[in-house]
Amino acid sequence: MLRGAHIDKSFGRGAARRQVLFDVSVDVREGECLAVIGGSGSGKSTLTRILLGLETADAGTVAYRGAAVTGGRRAPGRQALRRGSGLVFQDPFSSLDPRWTVARSVAEPLRLRHRGMPADEVGRRVAQALRTVGLEPATFLGRYPVDLSGGQAQRVAIARAIVNEPKVVLADEPMSAIDVAARVQILDAFAAIRDRRPDMALIMVSHDLGVVQHIADRVVVLHDGRVVEQGPTGRLLAAPSDPYTRELIRAAT
Ligand code: ADP
Ligand code: MG
Repeated sequence: MLRGAHIDKSFGRGAARRQVLFDVSVDVREGECLAVIGGSGSGKSTLTRILLGLETADAGTVAYRGAAVTGGRRAPGRQALRRGSGLVFQDPFSSLDPRWTVARSVAEPLRLRHRGMPADEVGRRVAQALRTVGLEPATFLGRYPVDLSGGQAQRVAIARAIVNEPKVVLADEPMSAIDVAARVQILDAFAAIRDRRPDMALIMVSHDLGVVQHIADRVVVLHDGRVVEQGPTGRLLAAPSDPYTRELIRAAT
């Protein structure tokens, strides 16, 4: 459903110019969870932002359901992807407005997208999104970010990302800033979403191979801006063919 082909990307100008992605090709299929792994600075965020149309590529193409995402602001696939995607980032508190209740934060995408949706329908969808991520609406609707733990705040951010029923969700290291003890709740939230929405694609950027093993169907390994290996999770983790992937796996165990 989402296809990136031969993507190059550099940052900076003149002598400071540095290429961070080299001829990267990657597919995301309907309903699958694709993990993007690799060391810090390997290009995971840049690549996934380009796939979602949030960043431009210098060369190569991205297509969403056959429609071009690359090629400018008005590219048809880019518009469709904007409406059809949800985003979750590393630090939940930086993505939640401290002045807004949970109810308002989660409702916001519905209000932007479906102006005029009746308030009771908004309330029903917000409550359902919160329950999906394991937060009881009666307890959380009226809370402010300051009253939430990191794990709860991240689950609110996930509820907001899925409330519009997106076709693809990008989660960029959603557990890295969360206490180890609360990470399992984030993982459970994603698993519950995948159960509810079997057609939704999930792109999970992570350096935690335990997470990858638990949730991903397929894995792409980036090393210094190049794809060194990709394949089904079980095969890739059990029998990595690339030396860098072997290093990653050895470092994790
Ligand atoms: P990762 O997510 O794997 O840690 P990133 O995609 O964030 O890697 O970054 C890849 C490389 O690109 C890094 O060297 C980073 O410093 C650089 N980079 C990322 N975003 C920018 C930017 N907006 N301007 C300049 N350099 C950037
Ligand atoms: Mg990153």
